[in-house]
Amino acid sequence: MNAKTHASPRDAVELVALTKNYGSGKPAVDGINLRIASGSYCCLLGPSGCGKSTTLRMIAGHESVTAGDILLENRNITDLPAAARGTAMMFQSFALFPHLSALDNVAFSLKMKGVDKATRHKQAADLLERVAMGHLSARKPGELSGGQQQRVALARALITQPRVLLLDEPLSALDPFLRIQMRAELRRWQKELGLTFIHVTHSQEEAMALADTMVVMNHGVIEQMGSPHEIYNRPVSEFVARFMGGHNVLTTPVGKISVRTDHMQLAPDVPDLADGAGNQRAVITDIEYQGTYVLVGLQKPGVAISASATAEMSVMVPEATFAARPFQLGEQVQLRWSPQASHALAH
Ligand code: ADP
Ligand code: MG
Repeated sequence: MNAKTHASPRDAVELVALTKNYGSGKPAVDGINLRIASGSYCCLLGPSGCGKSTTLRMIAGHESVTAGDILLENRNITDLPAAARGTAMMFQSFALFPHLSALDNVAFSLKMKGVDKATRHKQAADLLERVAMGHLSARKPGELSGGQQQRVALARALITQPRVLLLDEPLSALDPFLRIQMRAELRRWQKELGLTFIHVTHSQEEAMALADTMVVMNHGVIEQMGSPHEIYNRPVSEFVARFMGGHNVLTTPVGKISVRTDHMQLAPDVPDLADGAGNQRAVITDIEYQGTYVLVGLQKPGVAISASATAEMSVMVPEATFAARPFQLGEQVQLRWSPQASHALAH
């Protein structure tokens, strides 16, 4: 049964207090709870070492679980071998066998299972047809474009008829141009196949482009989970706001707030105005032309400006606005924002 035909939506994967401890010290994955809707594109996102790959490998059955449970469509798979779980893995740079044809690459896991040649070639050919690669099935990976290789890798992962496809940084070794093309194609295939994808990435841009649901991790725990829109507009914590980028974190009398860099304005300084709920004084440390906007970096006044210092805050000023009133490096200005543009951070 295809995930699309489920009578009612249900969770493809549920993680219950899932924990991995490699040895002494803090667990790499620390009791996470997560439900991933069937047929959705889920991205696990976070900085290097936060526990993304460990989580994915535990779901795949490539890593033992210290504590907690993994359910796949309500079946407890925590102690099942990888091949019996209903998951499949797609690896970085597709990891195709260079000496095998596309057809034999796709048929490989069936060969390992002892399926006879006619049967496995028929199944592999059907899958290559499904990803629009039927006419190139005799080619070796070196004779295929990056996009075609990705489709072969997809077909190879799908031959075991998984319910969930697991992808660990599948695009990170590609050049930037190909990476953007390939992610669009991944997204199209996920929708076309109606399958649940769980994709690990450290790139917030990639996660936002792909995900129905983003899961932001830090130090083995989930910081925030939600749609890209929810997370970008309502980061719960300073960590999420900074990791997502495009936000300023400001300390005000009512606590820490975040404001999107494109929701702030620059105004000439007003010497007697005290810092308040919608304005703070700042000094310009960087001005970068970016085409549609100018990215202005700022610091609180009184901090010595050095070439090595990174800007504490930034504002995206539309190109025409900046051209109408160009600010100068070192100029003291007022940073302005409206109450609706700011929201409180929990920690
Ligand atoms: P990510 O994929 O988010 O970069 P990982 O899940 O690979 O993070 O790693 C999480 C933490 O667990 C890191 O501190 C890492 O050093 C540690 N770790 C990962 N794999 C192993 C392993 N096989 N043995 C010991 N420690 C590991
Ligand atoms: Mg990793």
